[in-house]
Amino acid sequence: MKHEVRHCTHCATALAWIVETEDGGDKSRLRCAACGWTHWNNPTPVLAAVLECEDRGGRLLLARNAAWPGKSFGLVAGFMEAGERPQDGIAREVLEETSLQATEVSLIGVYDFQRMNQVIIAYHVRARGEIRLSPELAEYRLFEPAQVKCWPAGTGQALADWLRARGIEPQWIEGIKA
Ligand SMILES: [Zn+2]
Repeated sequence: MKHEVRHCTHCATALAWIVETEDGGDKSRLRCAACGWTHWNNPTPVLAAVLECEDRGGRLLLARNAAWPGKSFGLVAGFMEAGERPQDGIAREVLEETSLQATEVSLIGVYDFQRMNQVIIAYHVRARGEIRLSPELAEYRLFEPAQVKCWPAGTGQALADWLRARGIEPQWIEGIKA
């Protein structure tokens, strides 16, 4: 697992792996022997948007994150803020990252993304307005829904499910069907 905490956040003692019998069976946990603090390492929720530009013929906006290697385009996504509802959070992320105003937000589904220890909460967001990218995003592309290619990760699964719900059989990048 990435970003492993190796010391107790309370008393800075080195954490040790212990095996504990829990309701679901034996589990390995990182625990502080001095104060008993446990690093649970629960997945982090991430909000993602299948972003439909209703004033651009219903095309979908995919964006390339400036921090990503290569040329892959994906959903606009971000972390929740404390004290906000997820459906408000994704509208905020869309506004911050593209300056588009959400007019309608509806849940597509919830997807695992185990490689990043995240849970993807995916929404269909209809939006309109002028597109101005935040510095986090390097570029964007608009796709007709029938032309977009899905990818084998939680956000790509969400896009595929959204397409299927509209009667479009998803195409997959490089023929990889997840
Ligand atoms: Zn401790």
